[in-house]
Amino acid sequence: MSLLFIVVDSLRADVLGCCGGPARTSAVDHLAGSAALFPRTVSAAPWTVPSVAAMLTGVYPHRLGLAKWEQPWPAEHPSLFDLASRAGFEVTSFVFEPRYFFRAVPAARVAGSSQNTERVLGWLRERRDRPFCAFVHYWWTHIPYVARATTVPEWRKLTDVVLDAIRANGAARDGVKALYRHAVERFSEDWLPRVLEAVDLDRTWVVLVADHGESWGERCGPSEMRDVFDLHGNNLFEESLRVPLLIRPPGGCPPRRIAGLARTVDLLPTLADLLGLDRPPPGIDGMSLGDSVRDGRDAPAADAFSARNRDFLQRPDLPVDALELWCEFALTTPRHKLVWNREEISRRAYDLVSDPMETNDVAGALGATIDGAWKRLEAEAERAVVGPVGGDDLARTAERLRALGYLE
Ligand SMILES: [Zn+2]
Repeated sequence: MSLLFIVVDSLRADVLGCCGGPARTSAVDHLAGSAALFPRTVSAAPWTVPSVAAMLTGVYPHRLGLAKWEQPWPAEHPSLFDLASRAGFEVTSFVFEPRYFFRAVPAARVAGSSQNTERVLGWLRERRDRPFCAFVHYWWTHIPYVARATTVPEWRKLTDVVLDAIRANGAARDGVKALYRHAVERFSEDWLPRVLEAVDLDRTWVVLVADHGESWGERCGPSEMRDVFDLHGNNLFEESLRVPLLIRPPGGCPPRRIAGLARTVDLLPTLADLLGLDRPPPGIDGMSLGDSVRDGRDAPAADAFSARNRDFLQRPDLPVDALELWCEFALTTPRHKLVWNREEISRRAYDLVSDPMETNDVAGALGATIDGAWKRLEAEAERAVVGPVGGDDLARTAERLRALGYLE
């Protein structure tokens, strides 16, 4: 038995055909036809580093304290890589750029860039008959939405062009959204079938999930957009947090559309359950979705926490105070979302059923009926920590991030 774990960067759930979206995604939809689909999955964070760490450890990102590429993951929270290695799976990762992703996570065993598709396919084909755990971070759905490998200078130039188009006017912004849809279609119709063909689907678990969604300046005003973090990273609205999740067992299963909230922190306990790995240690935040995959029952969790960190990528260190790092927290329930912003000292609540776009703050109207939920959110924020920063070469990291366009 093997595991192919695909994280599609910036993939919104509501763009996919199988989730009612406008993109032509027949390969993803076909995969969903023999898998469990969790159409309401909440990411624990709105950008890559904290989000991926949370899904691979089952622990909320504010409890891991991870907000930089070069931070080592806390040893007290074993990751999927650790558990899979221990169970005899050959672990590997393909990431958008090995100089950033998992650079302080040796257990990920980064084998190269996911942008080298042939290399990914070759690795998988060579192991068709052996147990592996392959994490593949698909990158070309990230801005600038070109479905091909780019050099860093080209990537940066194209990103600037797309950001300028978002700022320009409504028509240009619509063009950017069409570009994004096209990139999603290329993922589904070009890349995904080739990768699925390279593995033996009768003996491979396939997970398809996104690290976060994407936006185009709707919340900050398009002309106010400064950089990539304004597309995803700087808010906890649904467009940033709602992600697709598909889990397909070896050989497939009847199509299951799972009701209830799933959370990206549920992935580690789910995979430990389904693949028979060691149980994650007590105290993790996720719960197994195994029963939903096996027989289609509702997802077990009633609500989901998400957290947003202030951007410290341009700084050589992190603040001492955890609540200076983790500035905004959200609690999503089947009906509502509560958002507590510590920087602005604001509390907002949205009725996700009657107001899915989150335009109407109903915190006042709900009044004392959500006092308990606010208390839970405050208690969760109390658990926030600041993880260690590897002091090796922060300056060089900043330089590389600048080259990638993440820094001014
Ligand atoms: Zn990402």
